[in-house]
Amino acid sequence: MGLLDESLWSGMVYSDGWREANGGVRDVVEPATGAKLGTVGVANATDVATAAAGAAKAQRAWAATPFQERAAILRRAGDIVMANLDELHWWIIREAGSVPAKAGLETHVTAQELYEAATLPSQPRGSLLQSEQPRLSFARKVPVGVVGVIAPFNVAMILGIRSVAPALALGNAVVFKPDPRTAVSGGVSFARIFEEAGLPPGVLHVLPGGADAGEALVADPHVRVISFTGSTAAGRKVGELGARHLKRVHLELGGNSAIIVLDDVDVERAASAGAFGSFLHQGQICMTTGRHLVHEKVADQYIELLSAKAAALPVGDPAREQVALGPIIDAAQRDKIHQLVTSSVEGGATLTAGGTFEGLFYRPTVLTNVQKDTPAYANEVFGPVAPVMRFSTVEEAAELAAATEYGLSLGIMTRDPLKGLALADLIPTGIVHINDQTVSDEAQIPFGGVGDSGTGSRFGGSTANIDAFTETQWVTMRSEIPPYPF
Ligand code: NAD
Repeated sequence: MGLLDESLWSGMVYSDGWREANGGVRDVVEPATGAKLGTVGVANATDVATAAAGAAKAQRAWAATPFQERAAILRRAGDIVMANLDELHWWIIREAGSVPAKAGLETHVTAQELYEAATLPSQPRGSLLQSEQPRLSFARKVPVGVVGVIAPFNVAMILGIRSVAPALALGNAVVFKPDPRTAVSGGVSFARIFEEAGLPPGVLHVLPGGADAGEALVADPHVRVISFTGSTAAGRKVGELGARHLKRVHLELGGNSAIIVLDDVDVERAASAGAFGSFLHQGQICMTTGRHLVHEKVADQYIELLSAKAAALPVGDPAREQVALGPIIDAAQRDKIHQLVTSSVEGGATLTAGGTFEGLFYRPTVLTNVQKDTPAYANEVFGPVAPVMRFSTVEEAAELAAATEYGLSLGIMTRDPLKGLALADLIPTGIVHINDQTVSDEAQIPFGGVGDSGTGSRFGGSTANIDAFTETQWVTMRSEIPPYPF
C-alpha cells in the first residue's frame, strides 16, 4: 500500500488519528482537467477547538520525549519523503498544476527542512547569566505549547513543513491548516509522513479548511504562536485577530519583487533569468519577479528576448505533456490575473507576448510601456506576467525598486557585484540575489520579507527557527531559601 493510498484518508481529517470532520468533505480537483482526484475532510471551528485542546494535552509528553527520539522521528520523516518521491510528485503535479521540476524542488526542500529540523532538538538552548545574588541564573528556550500553522496553495509542502517541522522538533504540538485546494499534497501528505515516522497521535493535527477554520485557530486559547503564510490582505486580518488575543504571530505575506538589469550584463542570460523568475509555476510564487527594471541601453534587446521566450514556452497539462507552465490554480485566480492585464493594456501598456488564456492555461505575458501605476506593475499579480520598466540611472532604478509597499526579494544583474550590493543597500527587502532572479529557497537560510511582505520574522536555520517556535524563560536556582526581613 502506498504512502498516500486513498483508503487511509479519504473524506477525513487527521486529528488524534483519522476521523470525520464536522465541516464535511470536499472534492480534490485537478486544475488541468477539472477531474476529481479524491475527497478530503474539511474542518470547521468545532474541529479546530477539539484539535487544539487535544494538541495541548499531547504536547507535554512530546516535549518530555528524549531529544534523540524527537530528532529520530524528524529524520525518519525526511527519509519517508525521499522514499516516496513518485507518489508525492504525482499529487503535487496533479493537484497544484505544477510542472515536474517544481514538484522535484518542492520535495527536495521538504526533505531538507525535515533533516534541518532534526538537528534542532540537540542544539544548546539557553545561556548562563550573571546574577547579583548568590544563585545560578540562566535563560532557557522552552516550547511555546501549541503552534498554529496556516499555509497557502502555491508551494504547499514547503510552506507548511518549514513551520511544522521546526515547531515539532522543538517540543511543540502543531495544529496545521492547509489550503483546501492543495489539501492532499500539502496536508494529508504530512499527516501520513509523520504517522509513518512514529510521531505520537495528537501531537500533529492536519485540518484542511477555509478562512473560518483559520480564524478559529488564531483565536483559540490553547494556541500561543501562529505561523501564517499567505496574502497580505489575509495576513493583516490574522495579525489583527492575533493582537486581540495577544498571540505571537509570524506573517510571511505577498510580494511584488523586482529585478534590476544594469547595462553591463549578458542580456541573453538576464532575459532567461527574468523569464524563469516571472513564469516558474505560472508566476504563483511569493518571490515571483513581478517587475523587470531594465537599463534603457539594453531594454529593447531584453524585451525582444523575453517576449520571444514567453511566446515559445509551452503551456498545458503537466501530467500529460512536457510543458514549461501548467494551469492556474482556479478560475477566480485566473480572472484576477486577466483583469490586471486587461486594465493595464486599457491604461496604455503594450502587450508584447501573451495576454490570452484557454481554460485555466494562461499564456506567459510580457507588458511594456508600463507606468508606476499600471495595475499589473503596481500590484502583486500572482500569475505569469512580466511588466518591463526602463530606467536611465542607477539612482532611478533604486527609487523604482523601492517604490512598493512590499519587500520580499530583489535581483540585481550586473558584471560588478559590489556595485550591485551597494545598490541593494538602497532598497528595503528581506532577500537579495546579485546576478540572479528573485525566486530561490533553501531549508537552512533565514527566509522572510519586510514591509507588507511580512513582520520581519524569519524561518529557516537554527537561530531563526528557535526564536520563532520557543519562549525564553528566566530561571534561577539557589541551594537554600534566603532569609527575608518579613
Ligand atoms: P490567502 O491569504 O488567500 O490564503 C492563504 C491561507 O490563509 C489559506 O490556508 C487560507 O485558507 C487562509 N486564510 C485566508 N483568509 C484567512 C483568515 N482571515 N484567517 C485565517 N486564515 C485565512 O493566500 P492565497 O492568495 O491563496 O496565496 C497566495 C498569497 O500568498 C500571495 O499573496 C503570495 O505572495 C503569498 N505567499 C507568501 C509567501 C511568503 O513566504 N512570503 C509564500 C507563498 C505565498
